[in-house]
Amino acid sequence: MTKIQFENQSYSVKSGESVLDCLIREGVAVEYGCKSGGCQSCKMEVVSGVPTEQSQSGLDDSEKAQNYFLPCICMPEQDMEVARPGADAVNKLETEVLALTMLNHEVLRIRLQRPDNYDYFPGQFLNLYNPDGIGRAYSIASQAEESFLELHIRHVPNGKVSGWANTQLKAGDQVSISQAAGDCFYTPGNPEQPLLMIGTGTGLAPLFGILRDALRHNHRGEIHLYHGSSVIEGLYMVEEMRVMADEVENFFYYPCVGQDSVPKGIFSGRENQKALADRGDLSGWRVYLCGHEEMVTSTKEKTFLAGASLNDIYSDPFISVAA
Ligand SMILES: Cc1cc2nc3c(=O)[nH]c(=O)nc-3n(C[C@H](O)[C@H](O)[C@H](O)COP(=O)(O)OP(=O)(O)OC[C@H]3O[C@@H](n4cnc5c(N)ncnc54)[C@H](O)[C@@H]3O)c2cc1C
Repeated sequence: MTKIQFENQSYSVKSGESVLDCLIREGVAVEYGCKSGGCQSCKMEVVSGVPTEQSQSGLDDSEKAQNYFLPCICMPEQDMEVARPGADAVNKLETEVLALTMLNHEVLRIRLQRPDNYDYFPGQFLNLYNPDGIGRAYSIASQAEESFLELHIRHVPNGKVSGWANTQLKAGDQVSISQAAGDCFYTPGNPEQPLLMIGTGTGLAPLFGILRDALRHNHRGEIHLYHGSSVIEGLYMVEEMRVMADEVENFFYYPCVGQDSVPKGIFSGRENQKALADRGDLSGWRVYLCGHEEMVTSTKEKTFLAGASLNDIYSDPFISVAA
């Protein structure tokens, strides 16, 4: 069954059904008229995937070049992400790649020129688009006052966006990004509240952003950050985090690896299990969970059961669109 991605929701298209009929059946408010390719009032834009030839047959060349298509006569042959016409153009911004650095064997740090008036909270995510217009979410590790946007991108084998970023992107290249979105970020107003941060892999990117934002806002409560990986090579920025933990009195850092034998200073075991065992009662705590989907979902429940209020649990599961 093919899937349609529209305004951050995914819909399954029934056999023989058009994209438009699928959206209408699902109760999505979309414009339409004749439903037979004549009036063009349902025209939409393809963000990723390929529209059927027939669904572009009545359109002029400039519309086809902008990936417009008619959802009423499009029986999709593959998964597609679609948007209202122009929605993407409004949201997409061009910017320059300033610098690329490997943080470990598979995590690339990308610094992008921050476009003028680009507002965000550290820990939110943006979509980075490859040259085919396929976008993926990446969390923002940089700070609001910095002139660049920092992303940490793990190379997923055969990944359309992470693969391109890790193998083809160069400093000086122009790339498209979206505006920032998401609600996993620091909110000032309760500076004494203890913070628990748990992340796997590049889940460190949002946590690094949130951590520094909290410190910038003079957060005085204890901040405990557990960063985990299944293997030691999957950790990164270990030294940088240790230095911060040495320098900042209320910050504590726990690098964890799911292996029995680990070097000194690294903890053996899963980051979430250690965090829950170490911290015990989480009443009054604020919790941030980022990275592996299963870790985030299960830990959300466990931190709630350990006393954290649901309003105080912020999470970003790194859900794969392709999966
Ligand atoms: C809110 C949010 C924030 C995110 N932040 C980050 C971030 O800061 N850094 C980061 O690196 N990623 C982050 N991600 C994940 C990212 O958006 C992509 O899913 C990831 O980079 C893979 O995209 P791709 O195009 O390279 O691979 P795709 O082309 O989508 O997938 C290629 C193949 O790999 C499989 N696959 C995809 N992801 C994984 C995975 N994690 N493990 C194993 N197999 C996989 C797919 O099923 C597919 O078979 C975030 C996701 C979300 C939803």
